Amino acid sequence: MTESIRIDHFIDGATTPSVDGATMPSIDPTTRSVWADVALGSVDDVHRAVESARRAFDEGPWPRMAQDERSALLRVLSDLLLANADEFGMLDTRDMGRPFAQTRTNDVQRSAANFRFFADHAALAADESLPGRPGHHIYTRHEPAGVVAAISPWNFPLMQATWKIAPALAYGNTVVLKPAEQSPASATRLAQLAVGAGLPPGVLNVVHGVGSGGGGQALVAHPGIDLITFTGETRTGEAIMREAAKGVRGVSFELGGKGASIIFADADLDRAVAVAADAAFANAGQICLAGTRLLVHRDVYQEVVDRLVKIAEQMSIGDPRDPATQVGPLSSEEHHAKVTAHLRDAERDGAVTVTGGARDGWWVAPTVMVGASQEMRICREEVFGPVVTVHPFDTEDEAVAAANATRYGLSAMIFTRELSRAHRVAGRLRAGNVWVNCFWVRDLRSPFGGFGQSGIGREGGTYSREFFTEAKTVVMNI
Ligand code: NAD
Repeated sequence: MTESIRIDHFIDGATTPSVDGATMPSIDPTTRSVWADVALGSVDDVHRAVESARRAFDEGPWPRMAQDERSALLRVLSDLLLANADEFGMLDTRDMGRPFAQTRTNDVQRSAANFRFFADHAALAADESLPGRPGHHIYTRHEPAGVVAAISPWNFPLMQATWKIAPALAYGNTVVLKPAEQSPASATRLAQLAVGAGLPPGVLNVVHGVGSGGGGQALVAHPGIDLITFTGETRTGEAIMREAAKGVRGVSFELGGKGASIIFADADLDRAVAVAADAAFANAGQICLAGTRLLVHRDVYQEVVDRLVKIAEQMSIGDPRDPATQVGPLSSEEHHAKVTAHLRDAERDGAVTVTGGARDGWWVAPTVMVGASQEMRICREEVFGPVVTVHPFDTEDEAVAAANATRYGLSAMIFTRELSRAHRVAGRLRAGNVWVNCFWVRDLRSPFGGFGQSGIGREGGTYSREFFTEAKTVVMNI
């Protein structure tokens, strides 16, 4: 049993406890014991952080710095993340149970790439100059928007936080980050590293705390905040939007999902089933983009179920610190209870578990269910666990209708070898991300976001620039 570590806020360039000294525990889902003692942010702590970000924006060098200088500092931060990959990987693994083999490689590399990409993007971005009426010259400027509140979820702690922080900083804003209370550790460390990289004090601040009724709510309600970027549940997005309405602040929301994978009869089944399994079970299903409903043409339905079950049963479940582990525990006791309740309800309503189910501790084995109808809760609500329901279909129309039968619209996967069908179905799916014969292949230039209740706005490349800057038109009579 190791001693718990201490995680404080990071405000104005320094690690600092809460004004009132309050703390909250962070539970390691593997050991189910407290592994970190975390500062519990209150309205006062949020105020200190917003004031610090405000000063850094209004008076500090960051928004006024030459772009190449700002980008150079973000590249240093990117390199520092890579140099500390083991430490960052283990912080996220301890906080929320994602396998270390993934956090220290995939997640840290992607986080470092977020900084490098937006450093480059901001450095290359150009503004328009327009031929105006005679004697006039018109041009646009994209100026930093101000103080950004970034609220992130627990499912990829470092990766989600940096996806917000990197563009916000690259385009000259200052930031207050409120990471999820279940996964606070990597955020404070990141802010410390940022100052080490040379970012001025106050440019990146971190306040810990709970969401509703706590630091999260206080942050989005604070009048010193200009923009809010949030990733999390749809109902939290609704609550944040109500706060954002006061003062008419801009929001960018990446919310829940209920993705579908569609396997047509002509698909390369080796690839299709392997990718569909990854889409369902990666990160123990705790991915907004997950393919949670697998729609399979009836001609290959049984074969797909058999192959999927085989893959599910071969996945290694265990301690996420073990490099061989593919499926770690779910992130918290509360979340485990939610996922297992979904499984129980689905079985009660007539669905059949072919393999998987709850294990000792907070693990759920990769679970394949059949016989669930689209009306059941398990097919309509976000389960956020390693659970996939498999459904046969006969026609393309039927598959598209089933995939679209959700209030969400974040992701969909199509598996086929027929090119015209791939394009046609991609066009008919109501989802912000459609992958054909693959899953979760990301290019940071492309728009990322969702249809329907999966979000508002898009981030990525120029879409991030649009959100994190104020565009200004200058018309000159010269
Ligand atoms: P959550 O909404 O419970 O919490 C997310 C963050 O919001 C946390 O930091 C929390 O403290 C904060 N928060 C909660 N209530 C708040 C309030 N009233 N005001 C301000 N902040 C508040 O989500 P979660 O359980 O941490 O994350 C899982 C959810 O995130 C899932 O629904 C998942 O689909 C979604 N998600 C979406 C994407 C995407 O890109 N669309 C990516 C990852 C996760």
